[in-house]
Amino acid sequence: MQQLDLGICATTHPRCANRAPTPPPPAQQLALFEQASSTSLEGSNPPLKTLPSPPPLPMESPITRGQARIEQLLRQLLGPRVMVQLTQNRSTMISYSVKRGVRYVRLHALFAQAPDHILGAVARFVSTKQPDPKTVWLIDQWIEIHRPYVKRQGRKPRVLPKGEVHDLQDIFDGLNQQYFSGRVQSRITWSTAARKQKRMSIRMGSYSEHEQLIRIHPALDQTFVPEFFVASVVFHEMLHELHGVAETADGTRRVHTPAFRQDEARFEAYAKARAWEAKHLRRLLRY
Ligand SMILES: [Zn+2]
Repeated sequence: MQQLDLGICATTHPRCANRAPTPPPPAQQLALFEQASSTSLEGSNPPLKTLPSPPPLPMESPITRGQARIEQLLRQLLGPRVMVQLTQNRSTMISYSVKRGVRYVRLHALFAQAPDHILGAVARFVSTKQPDPKTVWLIDQWIEIHRPYVKRQGRKPRVLPKGEVHDLQDIFDGLNQQYFSGRVQSRITWSTAARKQKRMSIRMGSYSEHEQLIRIHPALDQTFVPEFFVASVVFHEMLHELHGVAETADGTRRVHTPAFRQDEARFEAYAKARAWEAKHLRRLLRY
C-alpha cells in the first residue's frame, strides 16, 4: 500500500519530535472499504430528469457528497474500478491499495471540497508508484491550507500538567512571565511512554503546532531530575510556538534556526542544563 504522510508537525528534530503516525490495522481498513462501496454506489446514481429530485438522505453530509464527487471524478480519470473512502485519519492523509483489480483510495475528509485540479493530482498520486514532485506539492499545499479544519475535527488531546514530582504548568507559567511577558499560549502536558524500554535516544519534549500543545517526556518527572532541567526543555518548546517554522530560499523548512538557538541560550540555566544532561542522559534512557 502506498501512503503519503503529510500530517506530521513541522517541529520534528532529534530532541523534541512528534510521535510517528500509525497506519490503521488491515481489518479496520477492510471494514471501511465495505462502507465506502455502499455509500458511493448510492451517490453515483443521479435521479432521472423526468422525476422530481428525491429529498436528501438523512445521512447525507458534505463529506458523503464530497466522497461521491471524488469517486466519480477518479473513475473518469482512472476507469470504473475505483472506490473512495473519506476518513478522519490525521496521520495518513492519502493511502491506496489495489485488491482484485479494484483501486481502494482513502483520503482525509479535508479533500471533500477539493477542486478538480487537486483531485487530478490525487488521481496521479494513487495511480503511480513514484508521483512527480508537482503532484506531491499540489497535494501538500491543499493539506497545509486546510489544516485548521483538521484541528477542529480532531479529538481533544489529554492534558495533564501535574506530575508526581514536577508541575509543568507552574514551570510554564513562571517562564512565560519571566521571559515572554505571558505571550506563549500553548497548553502543556506530560506525555505517555512505555517504561523499561531499551532506548538509544529520548525525545524530551515536542511541540504540536496544530494542537498548540507542548508534550514533555515522563522520564523527566523523577526525583533526581532538577527543576531547572525540566524548565530548559519547556523553554525550548515554548520557543517553537514563538519562532514557528522558517522557510529558506530553496523552500526547506527549518525549526532550529540561528535565531532560535540564540534565544534558547537566553535561558539563565542553559549551560547548567546542558551539563546536567550530558551527565545524566544514560539514567534518563533507563526510564
Ligand atoms: Zn526543538
